[in-house]
Amino acid sequence: MKIILEYAEALIELFFPRLCIACLVKNPLRDQMYCLQCKLELPYTDQIDIPDNELEFRIFGRFKFERAAALFRFRKGNKVQNIIHQLKYKNRPHIGFELGKEFGKKILNSKEFPIPDLIIPIPLHKKKQIQRGYNQSHEFGKGISSVLNIPIYENIIKKVSDNKSQTKMNRISRLENVMNSYQIKDDTKIKGKHVLLVDDILTTGATIEAAAQKLLKSQDLKLSLAIIGMAEL
Ligand SMILES: [Zn+2]
Repeated sequence: MKIILEYAEALIELFFPRLCIACLVKNPLRDQMYCLQCKLELPYTDQIDIPDNELEFRIFGRFKFERAAALFRFRKGNKVQNIIHQLKYKNRPHIGFELGKEFGKKILNSKEFPIPDLIIPIPLHKKKQIQRGYNQSHEFGKGISSVLNIPIYENIIKKVSDNKSQTKMNRISRLENVMNSYQIKDDTKIKGKHVLLVDDILTTGATIEAAAQKLLKSQDLKLSLAIIGMAEL
């Protein structure tokens, strides 16, 4: 039965090959997600190995962190937007895992990005998680975890408010709402540890800041950040 299934899968791949996740036009390179052109052209930040990089500059002074870096630059209409769209809305959690592996390897090869003790993904609201079936940031974190061989904890931080209801609020109450949208459920596993907080996109940084502030209330906690795409402002 297993052989028949594998044969059927191979046939499907032959007639309906998956397209490159970045351009959605060409065939990807063997065992990869990107075609050759995209692989060469993707806007990698190449800043994981650079302390005081652009992302760190953007969040500096808002909360205490050790290191922070993004894998890509994210701009409306660029190839990274295609990748994130596939990851979030096309039921392809594996993309997150593969991107996490890429990030993990870059940390391993870096002298400037210390290997953290554990990983925490930014959680989705329960309703959204059920709707999507997975949390893209958790998938990204799992990829990093597999390369660095460190644990990932999904149930330490919880999203409590639904951001949708924000539209009717003024700026101040919106900010308050974001700051209170995360709750720490149990911090025994994270006290005194170096936590790598992971998320898909960083735009203003308000989400990350809210989660980071809550985590940093834990005793002697150190924090670093790993982001898939840093949005251009
Ligand atoms: Zn491509």
